Amino acid sequence: MKINLNNSPDEFVQNAIKSGITRGYVVLTGQTPQISNQELADIYNYISNSPDYQGHEGIFWEVDAPTKSLYVAAIHRTNRGAGQGGTRMKHYQTLGALFTDAIRLAKGMTDKNACANLWWGGGKSVIHSNQNPRELQGTERETVFTNFGRFIASLNGAYVCAEDMNTTPEDMRVIHANNRFCTCIPQEIGGSSNPSIFTARGVFMGLVAGVHHLAGKDDKTNIDLSDQHVLVQGAGNVGWSLMEQVVNAGGRVTVFDINENTKQKIRDTFTTEQVTIQEDLNTFYQTEADIFAPCAIGAIINDETIPLLNVKMIAGAANNQLKDAVAHAEALHAKGILYLPDFIINRMGIVNCANEQYGYLLDTIEEKILEVYDFTLQLLDRAKSNDTSPEFMAMQIAEQLSRVDHPIWGHRGMQLIKQLVKDDWGN
Ligand code: NAD
Repeated sequence: MKINLNNSPDEFVQNAIKSGITRGYVVLTGQTPQISNQELADIYNYISNSPDYQGHEGIFWEVDAPTKSLYVAAIHRTNRGAGQGGTRMKHYQTLGALFTDAIRLAKGMTDKNACANLWWGGGKSVIHSNQNPRELQGTERETVFTNFGRFIASLNGAYVCAEDMNTTPEDMRVIHANNRFCTCIPQEIGGSSNPSIFTARGVFMGLVAGVHHLAGKDDKTNIDLSDQHVLVQGAGNVGWSLMEQVVNAGGRVTVFDINENTKQKIRDTFTTEQVTIQEDLNTFYQTEADIFAPCAIGAIINDETIPLLNVKMIAGAANNQLKDAVAHAEALHAKGILYLPDFIINRMGIVNCANEQYGYLLDTIEEKILEVYDFTLQLLDRAKSNDTSPEFMAMQIAEQLSRVDHPIWGHRGMQLIKQLVKDDWGN
C-alpha cells in the first residue's frame, strides 16, 4: 500500500479502503517499536523518526469507511493509569501533520496529568473529518462519533476520551453511548460537561502566581492586577473568561482574535480602557505589555515570534505553546521572559474530568484551582534558585511522576496494549 505522509489524509483513507487495511498500530511493548502490518511501514518510519515520538506505548488508528473519517488514538505513557486526553476533530492538511499532532498532544497529557497528581496516563485522540468539522452536523456527525466510540471501545480502556477542539459534550454523549471510556459528558447523565471555565480559572491563578513571583509576594487572597497589561491571543471559551478575570482584577487587556463575531462581542461587552482589539498580528506580538497569554493555538512560541515579544511573562491556556519545548524554553529564559509551562497552568480542564470520573464534587474543584497557584509559585521559585527555565524544571517533575505506577492497578495500560497485540487487533 503506497502511503505519502505529505499528502492529504483523505488520500490515505481512500487507499486504505481500497486495500482493505483499515486498522493499524505502532506499539512499543519491548525494546523497539513494532508495526501491525508491513504494508504500513511508511507510517512506522514517519512516527519512529519524528522528534515528537517519545517512546509512545501505542498509536492506534482506524479508517471509517462509511464516513471517510480517520480516527487516531495516541497513548504515550500509562504507568499512572489509562491514557487520558481530549478528542480533537480537525480537517488536517497532511497525514503527517495528523500523526504529529496526536503524538505531541499525547505526551503533553502525560506531563499534565502527572503534575496534577491524577491517576491517569497521557493520551490524545484525533478525528480527521473529510469536511470542515464545524459544518459537520446532524446524523452525519452522529455517525462519525458513534463509529469513533466503537473504535475507542475496541482499545479496551487503554485510552479515555474528553472534549477538545471542535468537539462538544453532546459529541461525548454519543461516544459514551458506545463505550464507557469517555468524560466531559453532559451533566444530566452524570458528567461535568464543558470544562473551559475551570481551565480559565486555573490559568488565571497560575498567571497571578507568576505576577506574585516577579513581585516577591505569596498571597493568593490578594489579587490586584491594576498595574498589569495582558495580551490575550484567542478570546474563545478559555480566553474570554481569562479576559473577564483580568479585567475584574483591574488589569488591562489587548486581544487578537481572527473571528469577526468574537470581536464584535468584545466591543459590545468591554470598554476600550478594559480591552483593546489589535487587528495586526505582528503589532500584537510586539506590543509592550506585562504578560502574553496564548489561548488559541499551539506552537506559537517559536523562532519567528520570540524576537518580537516585549513582555515579562507568558501564561496562557493553549496546549504545547513552545514549538520546541527545549530550545524555545531556553531562548525565553535567556531573553528574561518568564514562561509558565502550559501543562502546569491549564490543567483544570482535565482535573475537572478526573473529578467527574470519581463522582463530581464542585468544592474539591475549587481547592484544585487554588492548588494551581501554589504549585506554580513553588515551581517558579525552584526554577529561579536553579537558574533554569520553569519548563525544564516542570519537565523533570513530570518525567519522575509519570513513571510512578498506579498504586492498585500498576502499569495496566501497557498490559492492555500487549493484550491488543496478542489478540491481533486490527487484522
Ligand atoms: P476555542 O475554540 O473556544 O477558542 C479559540 C479562540 O481562538 C477562538 O475565539 C478563535 O477565533 C481564536 N483563534 C483561532 N485561531 C486563532 C489564531 N490563529 N489567532 C488568534 N485567534 C485564533 O478554544 P478554547 O476551548 O478556548 O481553548 C483555547 C486553547 O486552550 C486551545 O489551544 C485548547 O487546546 C487549550 N485548552 C483548552 C482547554 C479547555 O478546557 N477548553 C483545556 C486545556 C487547553
